[in-house]
Amino acid sequence: MIDSSHQPVPLNAVCPFCSLLCDDLRIAVDGQALTLIGPSCGKARAGFADGSIEDVPLVAGVQATHHQAIERAAALLAGSRHPVFGGLATDIDGMRTVMMLADRCGGSVDHMDGDTLARKNGLLATRGAISTTLAEVANRADLILLLGEDALGDGSRFIERCVTPGDSLHPERLAARELVVLAPRSAARALQGISVPTRHLPMAMSDAAEVASALRALLAGRTLAARAVAGIRTTDLAEVAARLAAARYAVIVWGKDLSSAPHSEVAMELLNELLKDLNRNTRAASLVLGGSDGAASANAVCAWQAGYGLRTSFASGGPEHDPTRFSARQLIEDGTADLLIWISAYATRQTPPADLDCPTIVLGRSGMRFDVVPDIYIPVGTPGIDHPGRLIRTDSSVSLPLPALRESGLPSVRQVLGQLAALVLP
Ligand code: SF4
Repeated sequence: MIDSSHQPVPLNAVCPFCSLLCDDLRIAVDGQALTLIGPSCGKARAGFADGSIEDVPLVAGVQATHHQAIERAAALLAGSRHPVFGGLATDIDGMRTVMMLADRCGGSVDHMDGDTLARKNGLLATRGAISTTLAEVANRADLILLLGEDALGDGSRFIERCVTPGDSLHPERLAARELVVLAPRSAARALQGISVPTRHLPMAMSDAAEVASALRALLAGRTLAARAVAGIRTTDLAEVAARLAAARYAVIVWGKDLSSAPHSEVAMELLNELLKDLNRNTRAASLVLGGSDGAASANAVCAWQAGYGLRTSFASGGPEHDPTRFSARQLIEDGTADLLIWISAYATRQTPPADLDCPTIVLGRSGMRFDVVPDIYIPVGTPGIDHPGRLIRTDSSVSLPLPALRESGLPSVRQVLGQLAALVLP
């Protein structure tokens, strides 16, 4: 599979750079250099070109050997009262090792996108959700209502792979498919040329709850006195509601620009209630796009092993979950945590928040540069590039193996944490 000759060798690859985990990429491998041949995706192109293969650890900003960095990191971890494992941009194996260390060291776990995950987990735990998969969207949906513009443009292939796939198990659904987009005006350009009938109703993401509420009312047969809701004509919303009711399988899709917005819980809850309303008479489901940077994998592993999603602490001797109290930031700012172990294996720009004042060990993608130099930096490889890995997709129903593309010699997160565990744990 791996060819170390000097001729570029195209390899099939699964992309680790967002939670769609596209499995149809062709990557040219020229020594250690990787270039995306296709299909086109700006995010993947940047991701494969990012980083370096230099394995140069830093201790207090000074170059050190891997062994020296591990020994110093082990000393910090052994002396920590409450380490918090943050970032968590790793794969399933890396996250399993994080969980083992957090459990044995009395630490906590939180992802770099923990605020968004906490909202999603909270809603799922308290209200439930009717969700679907990428394959169901591609094959069965005849109406897709997309909120926000995360899934549009050069950085996502959602439209290409799920809305306008080349073929479908149900060609009649694909032929009948319509796309309705509720998103800011800036989305208009990315919607040009989409090969299914597409309607764009401009909407600010902060108005999503108001619009979802109006759609529920219209679906229930109520008449709205207002001529417009959040700038959208009521007659246009009535058409969307009627189309949702008439669809054989409607899917409501949203991404991080909705789920990370302030007070997005209300909007997401109303959308879930809208789906419940629809399912009284037809079939409808949600697809929440998110979980990139290993978030879907980290959250799932935490749930398997601790019984809770992320923002779980082992400081009391057993797992405790609190989406507010156990955020990495909160734990550091209130003085509970005294060591941050920041894990970020996908993007060199994803360094620890510069304003967190705490001793820090970084296991980061090789080639990382810092505004605030951490106490220790240990370069790691990227799953699906420098070592094999496995990740969970955005729809949480599929995990995909990612073969390595080159032999860089960079260690995985699992390996580095295993070396730390060997020095720290009895
Ligand atoms: S859409 Fe995501 S998974 Fe697919 S190629 Fe682009 S970055 Fe990679």
